[in-house]
Amino acid sequence: MKPLKKRRVFTPGPTPVLPQAVLQPLISPMHHRAADFKALFRDVQSKLQQVFQTQNEILLLSCSGSGAMEAAITNLLSAGDRAIIAVAGKFGERWAELAEAFGVRAEIARVPYGESVSAEQIARALETAPDASAVFVQATETSTGAMMDLGKISEVLEPRQNTALVVDAITGLGTTPIQTNAWGLDIVVGGSQKAFMVPPGVAMLSVSEKAWRMIERCRRPRYYFDLLPERSGQKEGHSRFTPSIAVIQGLQVALDYLLAEGIDGLIGNAALQAGATRAAVQRWGMSVFPRCPSNALTVFAPGSGIDPARVIATMHDRFGVEISGGQGSLKGRIIRIGHLGYFDFLETLGMIGCLELALKQAGASIQTGSGPKAALEFYESFDKR
Ligand SMILES: *Cc1c(COP(=O)(O)O)cnc(C)c1O
Repeated sequence: MKPLKKRRVFTPGPTPVLPQAVLQPLISPMHHRAADFKALFRDVQSKLQQVFQTQNEILLLSCSGSGAMEAAITNLLSAGDRAIIAVAGKFGERWAELAEAFGVRAEIARVPYGESVSAEQIARALETAPDASAVFVQATETSTGAMMDLGKISEVLEPRQNTALVVDAITGLGTTPIQTNAWGLDIVVGGSQKAFMVPPGVAMLSVSEKAWRMIERCRRPRYYFDLLPERSGQKEGHSRFTPSIAVIQGLQVALDYLLAEGIDGLIGNAALQAGATRAAVQRWGMSVFPRCPSNALTVFAPGSGIDPARVIATMHDRFGVEISGGQGSLKGRIIRIGHLGYFDFLETLGMIGCLELALKQAGASIQTGSGPKAALEFYESFDKR
């Protein structure tokens, strides 16, 4: 028998899209220099301020998230400047690679994969490199699922007027509180294809007044990702180059949807999907990998003798669903499942049931139905909260 399969993504980006968000640009195509698009662009920026919890300006760049990471480095720092970089996995390594590519002298605060870089480590790194102009961290490290304590890290930075705190919150936004203003986060980077429920193509950066002063002083040559001319144009809804019009139109629809749910509602939803999935993982006798797991994704090692690649292939071939494996040094060792954005409990429960069968097919000895049962019990207790 060959039952029907619906294609689904359960990856930590790209994530499922909100259907009405991707339909909108087909129903009503726009030109990016027309007045109605400029008004829409401004509206998207102001709605993003609510998600980022800030009054800082938010710039939209038409690139994937890493483009905005690059822009943060090249606009803040000249070659030879010093920076502290928190590395807890592949995306922290990306900050380090960017720093190296642009001649920034990096002091690395590193932890093994699965751990979180602590505020104390950042403080120690600042003692080693007191002249550091910026500190780069992830809110949540998507390669391991680990969450960083941004509130505490921001306290370390608070007395330092000449050091910017730059946060890759690409999978943090919408899954964990990101209090940009309250914590004084100078640059916060987001990406459209994570909790924002739209396709890839737009990256966002919120920039504080302190960061703007540093950007104005920075002498590094730049062109496409020069934030200063973007800033003056985007105040009028005018991006310097042709933007991802369709994704920005979709963002407006998706932001209306998710702001109606509320940021806390969205974070709570991710917590529900994550909690249900982890309850199943634990019931199977497997352990969640990071010491301090974020709601953005569940990361677990299925254990010896069970090949994650085989589980991932079965999920694709038998059930039409994409899940992710490990990156960097975790390649071939772990499974990653996303909870970002447009997921609901019904589909998470279905995914858990299919994952259980895929794990069994790969050799795990699991009692059929134990994972979904654990997820249902989690749901009942979550519902009572
Ligand atoms: C997805 C992601 C990025 C950006 O990746 P792109 O492929 O460039 O969009 C950066 N950091 C983290 C933590 C991510 O999860």
